[in-house]
Amino acid sequence: MLSLIHHIIDISVRRDRSEINAAMLEAISDLFAPRQVKIYRCYGSKRQTVVFCCASESSGSRFNRNAYLPDRAFCFPLEQDALLSKCIRERSAVMDFLDDHSHRIVFPVNTQDNPHYLIDLILSDSFSADQRTALMGLIDYFGNHIGLLDYGETDTLTGLANRKTFEKHLFELLGQASKDSHYGQGKQHNRRRGTTSGNHWIAVCDIDHFKRINDDHGHLIGDEVLIMLAQTMRDAFRFDDQLFRFGGEEFVALLQPADQASALGVLDRFRRTVEEQVFSRVGHVTLSIGFSHLLPNDTPTDAIDRADEALYFAKRHGRNQVACHETLVANGDIAAKEALRGEVELF
Ligand code: GH3
Ligand code: MG
Ligand code: MG
Repeated sequence: MLSLIHHIIDISVRRDRSEINAAMLEAISDLFAPRQVKIYRCYGSKRQTVVFCCASESSGSRFNRNAYLPDRAFCFPLEQDALLSKCIRERSAVMDFLDDHSHRIVFPVNTQDNPHYLIDLILSDSFSADQRTALMGLIDYFGNHIGLLDYGETDTLTGLANRKTFEKHLFELLGQASKDSHYGQGKQHNRRRGTTSGNHWIAVCDIDHFKRINDDHGHLIGDEVLIMLAQTMRDAFRFDDQLFRFGGEEFVALLQPADQASALGVLDRFRRTVEEQVFSRVGHVTLSIGFSHLLPNDTPTDAIDRADEALYFAKRHGRNQVACHETLVANGDIAAKEALRGEVELF
């Protein structure tokens, strides 16, 4: 009992998702000694749900991965695992008996209405009813803690991550980018399998003439456009791209490693999807997008400023288009020194 309280306090003081997972893993291992435990974070889109195994312990070996950056090497489509799929479908704990006097049990961690996390355990069949009650209490507590975190990180209108969360995500990504560049020119093994070292991108997307939509149709219809646009955005990007409502009618995407042509391809496809979409009562809406390469020494302001410069170029040159900061610099359309700032070492 005392040690359960000790672990709950230990989880409650943490605000970082990776650290919360580490404390939860520690609590489950210490209190319940499962044969195996895995914590999954779920990423849903219209197409499919992907699960990322962000923490696990089995036979004494423990992994705790960065819970903000789903590592594709540890992600798989939900439907690949029948018990995890059943858990999400039924939104309740599900169990499977194994041959070696143990059973596998998967708990959904319910935050708001959808499970965002799953906890997957292999327990001995001698696991008592009291232990099960304590375990379920701990998982409920974990869900409440994550729920509060989600609430603070989410924009209430669109459900995307809010601006406050952007800096945290960007720092995690820049930490990754500097590690990637440290790994060298692609000769060494890349920690993020199947990706190109350090090629992360930031894109700022701004609705064209949004003020007119509000003026012509009213604020509530304007809000509806923002909600629909956020949904289109979720469907257009990969599950591991990070999407934010940055303010008003401005959205930011942090794109996972890709070369410049693919980043442009994804963003222009998103722009075209929006252009072709019919927004109820409003009709057609367009977007301008500016994007830039993330540099290892970037501050959030540096990165946003470069993408913003490209965005304003797009606005000035007819809107409904995508502009890349690096291309504009290479073409002499905007000044070069801005592009280099993030690469300079500051002493
Ligand atoms: P541009 O093409 O240059 O981006 O023009 P714009 O009209 O989109 O840009 P501007 O920045 O002049 O106007 C943005 C408008 O967005 C003004 C503001 O009233 C509106 N807005 C900001 N936040 C919200 C919101 O949460 N809901 C609604 N409905 N409107 C919002
Ligand atoms: Mg606008
Ligand atoms: Mg704007």
